[in-house]
Amino acid sequence: MKPLICQSCGFPFSEAARGTNRDHSKNSEYCIDCYKEGEFTDHHLTLHEMERRLLMMAREHNEISLEEAQQIIKTLPDLKRWKMTNIL
Ligand SMILES: [Zn+2]
Repeated sequence: MKPLICQSCGFPFSEAARGTNRDHSKNSEYCIDCYKEGEFTDHHLTLHEMERRLLMMAREHNEISLEEAQQIIKTLPDLKRWKMTNIL
């Protein structure tokens, strides 16, 4: 099985960490941190803000390496949530 990649934050996530739809079924496109009960947990999040968060996770919290963060940032514009933003 190929790992699921969240179409909002770009992180790989497990079956158990899938987001939920409004009817409480699982959503395989978004992780639970980004998507709960049919809505994004942070409506006002922008692509730019997501990049900033990733860099912060790397620099301040050491949750991921800076290289990993930059790798994920490169993939963000291709993710479903940000594709439209990118065109505008
Ligand atoms: Zn996510």
